[in-house]
Amino acid sequence: GGDFNQKIDYVFKVVLIGDSAVGKSQLLARFSRNQFSLDSKATIGVEFQTKTLVIDNKTVKAQIWDTAGQESKRLFRVEGNAIAIAVELLGQATVWYAETDRFICSPIRYRAVTSAYYRGAVGAMLVYDMTKRQSFDNMARWLEELRGHADKNIVVMLIGNKCDLGSLRAVPTEDAQEFAQRENLFFMETSALESTNVETAFLTILTEIYRIIS
Ligand code: GDP
Ligand code: MG
Repeated sequence: GGDFNQKIDYVFKVVLIGDSAVGKSQLLARFSRNQFSLDSKATIGVEFQTKTLVIDNKTVKAQIWDTAGQESKRLFRVEGNAIAIAVELLGQATVWYAETDRFICSPIRYRAVTSAYYRGAVGAMLVYDMTKRQSFDNMARWLEELRGHADKNIVVMLIGNKCDLGSLRAVPTEDAQEFAQRENLFFMETSALESTNVETAFLTILTEIYRIIS
């Protein structure tokens, strides 16, 4: 460790998906920078963080992508192949990203946004908030979207976040385990706040990806 000029053997793109406010951005902040914030701002557009680690003597750069709820996004085609994505926040469309500074022409289909996010992903974390039943019930839809867009060999992990709020639990561990088993997903309960299982969850998915790819 500590060598900033390491040669990178692999870059693994992993996407975070799930309803708003389940803790995707804080899981990423905890994993990549060991930070946590209680008044986390809603994610606008797509962000990614990287973290380099060593798996089986190989240097692996994890590139973890984070986004606001997909449902709030529209993709706009810009001149050439560049894209811009507008995120609707409180009814206002905010253009947050473009590969050129010339936009916007015409809205194109929702499906294209999603494809851009999933393109090249070798892992996905499906995150719900264990104190919000609805966020768990929506996992099936997120999984369907993922299966519709991602590579069929993508490694998927189901994450029940906010396990520090045990007294407010709305999703029994067994329900999640059963869903994970049925859908062939890894499963872990985490707390970004208390750091519980965050490192373990990322290491588990990255190690599995490595095992498949190497
Ligand atoms: P995102 O919309 O899925 O990216 O959710 P955020 O990461 O922005 O988190 C939404 C809210 O939940 C913020 O107030 C976070 O501080 C809080 N939060 C995130 N993770 C945890 C956790 O593990 N425990 C608790 N108690 N709160 C969390
Ligand atoms: Mg976020």
